[in-house]
Amino acid sequence: MNSNCIFCKIITGEIPSDKVYEDDSVMAFLDIKPVSRGHVLVIPKNHSADLLSADNETLKDLMPKVKQISQAVMKAVNAQGINVSTNNGAAAGQIIFHLHFHLIPRYSKDGLPPWPHHEVELKTRTELAEKIKEKFTPDTITSLL
Ligand code: 5GP
Ligand code: ZN
Repeated sequence: MNSNCIFCKIITGEIPSDKVYEDDSVMAFLDIKPVSRGHVLVIPKNHSADLLSADNETLKDLMPKVKQISQAVMKAVNAQGINVSTNNGAAAGQIIFHLHFHLIPRYSKDGLPPWPHHEVELKTRTELAEKIKEKFTPDTITSLL
């Protein structure tokens, strides 16, 4: 619990929300300014600022629920797809610093813009892939197994 956090206040009920799911460790509620019809936020009750600082036990509990809540949302609004995403850091568009997954139902021809992809030459891609691979230490790899 972080006393300055809006989502912690939603968990305690201090700030009202349109709750769609709750158990001991997770809550889901409608986004107050939805990107599309049925936009839901799923949060762990255990406060962490974002995905990268969350502990693995929290994530192990959270992810299957993100999946099940996504399935319920899709059925409820007759969506053809759903974007499941989490913003990490202000540069990535994060505004609320309590880990949350956005479930954004998608509809055929809903007009939402796609990611702006661009071409990158092979050499640049190869160098970049190597640079990322170098950042995995034996310890981090072992911890993922
Ligand atoms: P972020 O940009 O941090 O990934 O997303 C934060 C989301 O929380 C936004 O989509 C915003 O509309 C939503 N939000 C912000 N304040 C509240 C609130 O008080 N109640 C609810 N239900 N959603 C909120
Ligand atoms: Zn919080």
